[in-house]
Amino acid sequence: MTSLKATVCLLCVVTYLGCKNSNSVGNETNKRFISSESNVDTLRAVSAPLKIKDFPRQENIDTLEKRMIEANLIDVSLLNPDIKVNLRYASDSNFLNQAIYKSLKRAYLEESAAKKLAIAQILLTTEHPGTHILVWDAARPISCQRIMWNALDMPSIEKGRFVSNPRNHSLHNYGCAVDVTLCDSSGAPKEMGTDFDQFDSIAQPRYEWRMNYTGKLSDEAIRNRKILRKVMIAAGFSTISSEWWHFNSCSREYAKANYAVIE
Ligand SMILES: [Zn+2]
Repeated sequence: MTSLKATVCLLCVVTYLGCKNSNSVGNETNKRFISSESNVDTLRAVSAPLKIKDFPRQENIDTLEKRMIEANLIDVSLLNPDIKVNLRYASDSNFLNQAIYKSLKRAYLEESAAKKLAIAQILLTTEHPGTHILVWDAARPISCQRIMWNALDMPSIEKGRFVSNPRNHSLHNYGCAVDVTLCDSSGAPKEMGTDFDQFDSIAQPRYEWRMNYTGKLSDEAIRNRKILRKVMIAAGFSTISSEWWHFNSCSREYAKANYAVIE
């Protein structure tokens, strides 16, 4: 009964957020959520109180992942298996050309952020079947933030353009920010205009109109960025003006007051 009540409440929240943030996500979409059994299952999963120990765990997880689990962070793929993950800092396919996360392969987030991402995927599946959220980075321990900071050989003032100073804590360090793109069912990323961690004007939503007008950013990239923003905002995330892939689930002040930094 409690679980059913929670599901109904969540449906109301999704509908409310959809109506508030987007014209086409509303009652019709909500009806489609209810008519799809897999979506109802996912909504139940994200609505029920989470029991971490109930989730299946793989053996031989590395110490980094252990710290995530001990911090009560949630593996987003367990909440919604339609979410795909390719942690770019687990390989050398990032702006540092270094694997920072070693063997970590799963994306962890603070519980409410993980639920929001699961809802964003439900909205995406409903409006664009076959399209998936692809997570490039999620919770990032402060120890990894320090490695990234120290790996850049340049004055601190310049480093701040590429990486948050670990002394200030990024929202990633609380599991409250996520870097995502869209991909197809095979995991191939959609056209977004730039790759992850490309720090020039084309990557910055504040310059999108100008970049599109001057032919540097395609109509397709603009369309895909809008689809991504629409579902993420409807699910409760907020955007930033400098990186199209980055979304926050709360303010830095709220995270500081309510969550611990992941060591
Ligand atoms: Zn980010």
